[in-house]
Amino acid sequence: MKAKILLLATLILTLFSCKRESGPEPVDYVNPLVGTLSTYNLSTGNTYPAVAVPWGMHFWTPQTGADGDGWTYRYDATHIRGFKQTHQPSPWINDYGAFSIMPVTGEPEADENRRASWFSHKAEKATPYYYSVYLADHDVSLEMTPSSHAAAFRISYPAGTRAFLAVDSYGGSATLTDVNTVCGWSSQNHGGVAEGFRNFFVLNSDIAFTEISSEGGTLLLELPEGQTANISIASSFISPEQALQNLEEVSGGFDAACAAARAEWNRILGRFEIEDSNLDHLRTFYSCLYRSVLFPRDLSEVGADGIRRHYSPHTGTVEEGYLFSDTGFWDTFRSLFPLLNLVYPEVSARIQEGLVNHWKESGFLPEWGSPGHRGCMVGNNSASVVADAWLSGIRGYDIDALWEAVTHGAHSVHPTVSSTGRLGWQEYDSLGYVPCDAGINESAARTLEYAYDDWCILRLGEALGKDENELAPYRRAALNYRNLFDPEYRLMNGRAADGSFRRPFSPLKWGGDFTEGNSLHYSWSVFHDVAGLAELMGGDEAMEAALDSVFLMPPRYDDSYYGFPIHEIVEMTVMGMGNYAHGNQPIQHMLYLYDWCGKPWKAQARIREVMEKFYTPWADGYCGDEDNGQTSAWYVFSGMGFYPVCPGSGEYALGTPLFRKLTVHLPGGDLRIEAPANSRDNCYVGTLRLNGREWGHNFLRQEDILNGASLRFDMVSAPNKGRGSEEQDKPYSFSRP
Ligand code: CA
Repeated sequence: MKAKILLLATLILTLFSCKRESGPEPVDYVNPLVGTLSTYNLSTGNTYPAVAVPWGMHFWTPQTGADGDGWTYRYDATHIRGFKQTHQPSPWINDYGAFSIMPVTGEPEADENRRASWFSHKAEKATPYYYSVYLADHDVSLEMTPSSHAAAFRISYPAGTRAFLAVDSYGGSATLTDVNTVCGWSSQNHGGVAEGFRNFFVLNSDIAFTEISSEGGTLLLELPEGQTANISIASSFISPEQALQNLEEVSGGFDAACAAARAEWNRILGRFEIEDSNLDHLRTFYSCLYRSVLFPRDLSEVGADGIRRHYSPHTGTVEEGYLFSDTGFWDTFRSLFPLLNLVYPEVSARIQEGLVNHWKESGFLPEWGSPGHRGCMVGNNSASVVADAWLSGIRGYDIDALWEAVTHGAHSVHPTVSSTGRLGWQEYDSLGYVPCDAGINESAARTLEYAYDDWCILRLGEALGKDENELAPYRRAALNYRNLFDPEYRLMNGRAADGSFRRPFSPLKWGGDFTEGNSLHYSWSVFHDVAGLAELMGGDEAMEAALDSVFLMPPRYDDSYYGFPIHEIVEMTVMGMGNYAHGNQPIQHMLYLYDWCGKPWKAQARIREVMEKFYTPWADGYCGDEDNGQTSAWYVFSGMGFYPVCPGSGEYALGTPLFRKLTVHLPGGDLRIEAPANSRDNCYVGTLRLNGREWGHNFLRQEDILNGASLRFDMVSAPNKGRGSEEQDKPYSFSRP
């Protein structure tokens, strides 16, 4: 009997082809709920469970928050009010083109509060390719599975009570066009779209509907009780006709769509193959990798004629080719784009083609795009995103147009979105820094990032063979970080137009001359010239002491700029690592700077501490906003044992690998990273062999690993102070020949 039941179970599992049939595959380690236990005051990720395919145009999520609430799904919520198609990159930026559906039973209730239902995480299954939940108040089970431009739903209604489906267009339009079809649109947005923006959607059901009510853009439909409805939904930013075309993606039915989405996830996540017994590490790693391949989203749609087009958020027109958006380069230039350039170069090429289109359609490269230019953060780090891609060997797009774009953006600012281009560029170009008394906030952060961005432009220009006359200003400006070094405090500080430094000066003051951080966090933003920074600080030992001091001081802070402790401040204070604020981006490369002081073992110990303590595979798994793959990509790189401190340099700074064996299936060949003795205690690199030969340096060159390589780490429990301590072991610095 037992055998028969087993046989039957196997048969059923095989029939539902989206369920796994054998051992765990990469996607089975992903927990999309990581980071969802977040509030306005304390972020452990500020994520939502994105049910999507990698870089998909539309994501779907269960919705616990009210329509329009940026905290769209909270782990501590008790009720679900809808299943939302979302394009939200962050609660702070919020959503656009959103609409939702919600099954209802009993009374015909369309109101978003009254239709909401109790649910439990125990009766919920969240994966990237499949989500299901039991809605207690309605006795309904709902399943959903995504494609890039569409999704399939299977909704099981109980017998003995009336059955409804609410279609909530977020104040747009939803119309029953025939008994099986709803057409509508959502124009919901928070800026960054052209006049007349619409997300055109089409919903198709295999069970006929009757209209009950239509009010405020929410349509309530009734269907026969006790049925399982197979519903497919697609949408388009281009046209209703394109939405119908997009519906083809799920025309094979729910199970086929689910199997396809699962296969796509395993194809993308499977570039990393891990052999290790630590299940928490596997779950954390693949959950981070999942977050690293969601954004920027691909906004292009393929028409019936086979031509790829996109809605331009800048002009409102429909243009040919790729366009990607929903990322803030201030966050993601650091390690997310370098990760794509290394592991997913084919996607990077499309992203760069999309940047060409942003430039052609708006006259600027995005800095924070969602989907058009949005006013958020500082810097001109599109230069890094462009330069690192090209210097990493990504090809197949119009680099001449991007050269024009980065050099134009360095000496201009967007007329209405001041975080696009360079705010304060005139002052920066004439003084060598953005002065802190010119009415431009966060001037020191801007200056430090502009100086690095100038170095990126220089490197790109050199690679493109540009004339030295054209490059000389960038060569000089790359050293502009020096202008903000306050010799009295030996830290970066705001500086007035007359040359005087900010007084009184508090290294603990967040904001003001800096961005979501203080001078202790921002003084390290000299990615391209760490040796030059060390020289300013008084040498390697002085810089090492300055690095140490960040961890040793208590987590005190000055929040007078904001008037309250912003969530990034709180996230620093609770982690027990002094003033180290890994929950925000400015400092995320800092641990690796010990590599430049000849003390790589200090980096190794701290990096391992952060990997073990600041990241988990559970709902509170991040230590601050995840931010569109950046905080996740830090973990993915660090798990490999190296990190791109300076995108554009062609080098990675060495850390400590997390796994006993990790193979990265790079398009150019396999990168095998082995550390057989790895453990929580054995976190130090005793020796490293690159392709069998001892490698004593604190860096890896991209050219050495891009076409495959073998890295063999002998991990030990005490620092090997004889390794990586010489001058020639230090990673790249601009001012060191
Ligand atoms: Ca952040």
